[in-house]
Amino acid sequence: MTEVLDVLVVGAGISGLSLAHKLTKLSNNSPLKILVAESQNRVGGNITTVSQGDFIWEEGPNSFSPTPELLKLAVDVGLKQDLIFADRKLPRYVYWNGQL
Ligand SMILES: Cc1cc2nc3c(=O)[nH]c(=O)nc-3n(C[C@H](O)[C@H](O)[C@H](O)COP(=O)(O)OP(=O)(O)OC[C@H]3O[C@@H](n4cnc5c(N)ncnc54)[C@H](O)[C@@H]3O)c2cc1C
Repeated sequence: MTEVLDVLVVGAGISGLSLAHKLTKLSNNSPLKILVAESQNRVGGNITTVSQGDFIWEEGPNSFSPTPELLKLAVDVGLKQDLIFADRKLPRYVYWNGQL
């Protein structure tokens, strides 16, 4: 049977997932049929967290600028308890060729 959708979101990275989340919230009174299509076997796109043994690390982004919009999104999707704020005054380094 063919299913008729209101919105097809292509890609389940942060852009596609946050768009689908926003549309779902906006269409609260008359819910939209939204499908997020993803070509990989996991969601997240560039956002890749790997756990192995006692270790956990990020292979993509590990931080973001805490803009009001992003903070609101994080809280909306239930990540409030997981947010860790860094000291804004701390410098950032890139480790390259054995040097910072
Ligand atoms: C190593 C690395 C470190 C980074 N560090 C930071 C950081 O610290 N802070 C920060 O703010 N940003 C960082 N970024 C940038 C940030 O990760 C990206 O801007 C963001 O994740 C992009 O999200 P997106 O949803 O737009 O795209 P993507 O994450 O690329 O998601 C696109 C999704 O669409 C899927 N897709 C594509 N074509 C199709 C198709 N035809 N059909 C179905 N699915 C499809 C892909 O498989 C993918 O899952 C980093 C990026 C990398 C690579």
